[in-house]
Amino acid sequence: MSTDSRAVILARVSSKSQEDEGYSLDSQVKLMRGYCESHRLTVDRVFKIAESASKSEQRRIFQKAMNYIETQSIKNLIVEKVDRHVRNLHDAVETHDWLMADENKKAHFVKDSLVMHKNSRSQEWLNWGIRVVMAKNYIDNLREEAMKGWAEKLAQGWLPAVPPVGYVTVVESGKRIHVPDKKTTRSVQKAFDLYLQPDQSIQTIAKKMEHMGLTTRKGRPFSKSNVQSILTNPFYIGINRFNGKDYPGAQTPIIREETFKRVQQKMHRGRPDKYRRHDVALKGLISCVNCGGQVTWQLQKGRYYGSCQRRSEGCKGRKYIRQDTMEVRIMERLEKLVCPSQDVMEWVLDSIRIDFAQSIDNHEEAQAAIESNIKRLQAMDDRLYDDKLNGDITLERYRQKHDDLSNQISQFQEELRTFDVDIERRHHHAVSIIELSQKAAQFYQEKETDEKREILIELFEKMTIENDVISVNYTKLTKAIAQKSEESRQIMISQKSDDRTDDNDKNNRRGGATLGSENELRSIWLGRRDSNPRMPVPKTGALPLGHAP
Ligand SMILES: [Zn+2]
Repeated sequence: MSTDSRAVILARVSSKSQEDEGYSLDSQVKLMRGYCESHRLTVDRVFKIAESASKSEQRRIFQKAMNYIETQSIKNLIVEKVDRHVRNLHDAVETHDWLMADENKKAHFVKDSLVMHKNSRSQEWLNWGIRVVMAKNYIDNLREEAMKGWAEKLAQGWLPAVPPVGYVTVVESGKRIHVPDKKTTRSVQKAFDLYLQPDQSIQTIAKKMEHMGLTTRKGRPFSKSNVQSILTNPFYIGINRFNGKDYPGAQTPIIREETFKRVQQKMHRGRPDKYRRHDVALKGLISCVNCGGQVTWQLQKGRYYGSCQRRSEGCKGRKYIRQDTMEVRIMERLEKLVCPSQDVMEWVLDSIRIDFAQSIDNHEEAQAAIESNIKRLQAMDDRLYDDKLNGDITLERYRQKHDDLSNQISQFQEELRTFDVDIERRHHHAVSIIELSQKAAQFYQEKETDEKREILIELFEKMTIENDVISVNYTKLTKAIAQKSEESRQIMISQKSDDRTDDNDKNNRRGGATLGSENELRSIWLGRRDSNPRMPVPKTGALPLGHAP
């Protein structure tokens, strides 16, 4: 037997709770140092593995320890217990091989009172083997149990984790579920909507969220990477992402799928290429009328040219069009959106805001009505069940009635589900589009490529080329804005020519239009005439606010 008395301690703690219960690494090390002392071994080095570390990190330290032992020709490995040392069969095999290579090597399992070496009796090897298998089995079971628990929760539509900001965990009939948090839902919706605006970035949203009082659970402001994971979390549209997989969620979505998608698009685009940002403002935004494919771009003598370069019939041999030529057409379309009277525009926006405040009131009433309907139907269903138990009605009759009630209830619930999200989102979005439409022509010339792209995505439904002609299509809302701006322009032009022939109206002039024509302008934007322009009753029916994408 070798007289080499150097030893290496390998300590391991498997969970936070074990650390808390006094099974800390330090107390483990202390125990093993005591063992070494009483067995006349000198501790050469201590390795510590916390199992709260990642699997690969644990494995790395294990490897490091075994390598160290090997290169320093250390013969004694000190471990607390077999099941602590051998977390998987891989480690077990490695330890076995290490022991088998030299009969002087010893593995000391302090708490098991087991010292293993090459010439251990077969009974001891069996003993060791059983412990290894049990350790492995225990770990596997634990993992399975945990997975089973998660799978069950996921299958029921609930995320087995803390929900993101905007939601709270509540206990409903003994189950922990996630529901929208009344205090934060609207702010989260606002953050998504705001992010879509051209001048907003993850960084500005982080600031805005701080102003809105949205914080982490510990009350700290969200970091940029927090904001990024919030804006990319599909939980908000009813999808539970868990261990890299998506499961349908039972939670009430608070973000519209459409909004979510556009946020993802913006984030994807917003990420600059490794070395440079987008050079081509129109890249990916223009498609070919003929084949529906994206226009491809080429840099020639410092200018970008685009065309469809597919070889399909009708597409091949297309001429390249200069980007700035396309942008002339785009600028025309953006300028058409600008209302000649910004006074009128402000009034329109005010009216939309007042409309919204009123609709919120109505909305809350309607919501209360639906909720009380659901309660009433549920009470009826309960009574029906009692009747069935008492034998007052037949089973068939019960089923029929019960199905009927359940249907009605789920219809109302569906109404409630989609209620809140729509109204708030539509309002914010419509207001932001109208505001943007008035500034876009100017912004487009001043802003960077990425902001230009945002403007085009917000205001245009699509852009296409056919031969060398580019078509720019408005969305429903921007189309209405363009039309009303044009009508306003006509009125103001005719007003001006009236002014030249009739000086009597001169005193009524205000902001480029007379009071009479201003009234007319307002009626264009709001879809009806006001008898009294000073007491506007808002009814913003003329703008298709509900159709804002
Ligand atoms: Zn094509």
